[in-house]
Amino acid sequence: DRVLVGNRVSEGHVNFTIAYNMLTGIRVAVSRCSGIMKPLTNTDFKLTKKLVFDYHGNESTPSSQYAFKFKDYSPEVFRELRCLFGIDPADYLMSLTSKYILSELNSPGKSGSFFYFSRDYKYIIKTIHHSEHRHLRKTLKNYYNHVKENPNTLISQFYGLHRVKMPFSYKNQIKHRKIYFLVMNNLFAPHLDIHASYDLKGSTWGRLTPTESHPNIYNENDDDTNRPVLKDLNWINSNMHIEFGPLKKQKFLEQLRKDVTLLSKLNIMDYSLLLGIHDMDRGNDLLNLDDGNENYNDNIQKGHAPLTKSGNNNNNNARVDNSHAFGLHYFQQYEGGIRSSDKLDHDTNKIYFIGIIDCLTNYNIIKRLETFIRSINHDLSEVSAIPPKAYSDRFYTFISKSIEPSPSISTSTSENVS
Ligand code: ATP
Ligand code: CA
Ligand code: CA
Repeated sequence: DRVLVGNRVSEGHVNFTIAYNMLTGIRVAVSRCSGIMKPLTNTDFKLTKKLVFDYHGNESTPSSQYAFKFKDYSPEVFRELRCLFGIDPADYLMSLTSKYILSELNSPGKSGSFFYFSRDYKYIIKTIHHSEHRHLRKTLKNYYNHVKENPNTLISQFYGLHRVKMPFSYKNQIKHRKIYFLVMNNLFAPHLDIHASYDLKGSTWGRLTPTESHPNIYNENDDDTNRPVLKDLNWINSNMHIEFGPLKKQKFLEQLRKDVTLLSKLNIMDYSLLLGIHDMDRGNDLLNLDDGNENYNDNIQKGHAPLTKSGNNNNNNARVDNSHAFGLHYFQQYEGGIRSSDKLDHDTNKIYFIGIIDCLTNYNIIKRLETFIRSINHDLSEVSAIPPKAYSDRFYTFISKSIEPSPSISTSTSENVS
């Protein structure tokens, strides 16, 4: 598990065809779904649309380099979800399709899912197992209602659910394989270095990422581009905290409670709190590299949030009402994240990117079996696969115990320490 480093998927890459087809499908499907928005009906949650692509093109699809089939699930629901999350439709299309370049995350998780970043790193495409796909479809209405009622939800933002069906030859026969995938938010801001990241579950069983040197975000000698995602035991061993003063702590825990209550009601477990930490005292290589923006320290130290998640303030082309959108999400209000604070609720010098990820694992037979097998040898409070209610309680308890205000009031007047 690595943060934000990917291999470019360009022509010749083993997964180039898959990536090309995914993007082509999204482009056509999303641009077709552009009429007037009507109130959603139950049918919208079940609706699917199929597109057939081939070399020649036809009346409903343009020509494509490869022949494949594309299926779009509940297009109107996801369109409205994107709107609720403040995604501008034109911007969405640009990010996902303007060039056929995606980055593939170096080491996919144990689940066998693949991750692709959009060209601008704003979006993540994750391939998912059929069972996860089925579960999302079944619970989409619950998810949608939750997002509507909780604009500050920490649960992953889903922007689209799709399938590509591609031919491949196997023993001289043409077979087809189906790949399910979803588009979601990249929790981390594309323009800021993440100096440390943690994937926390509240369980300790196997939850240690081995690190050669002791992980410490203040270690200036770390290789910034190759930092592993750390886990619960790393977090505990280095006595880490989410540094929130009383106000942010209360807001955060309130939302976390609502979110895990939903997940447990939907019979989901095995999710994580993903936490990325940007240390403002350490500055930022990414921004300097990308935009040559020398105002980083100015902007940051004046306490402004000068950039949107897309890295600019140019909203001239906005076609949707963004009034409740990005920037007002409580946990994404500052550079796409939220500032740490001290016990007087004054902002301190870390930016957290925080959210609940991997939340489509249904507590099914396999997990029950795993619980049974592991419980023979281990204390149940340690293992990962426990029933949803117990999982959510343990998760919530672990996170809530991890919050403490920053030690001192920020010395925001400090000049560059070099
Ligand atoms: P497993 O089931 O083995 O845990 P998975 O294939 O389901 O793995 P995830 O747990 O969803 O994968 O994610 C793996 C890693 O990818 C995370 O620890 C995180 O580093 C990164 N990641 C996943 N989702 C996001 C996201 N929305 N934003 C940023 N990084 C993400
Ligand atoms: Ca996971
Ligand atoms: Ca998973």
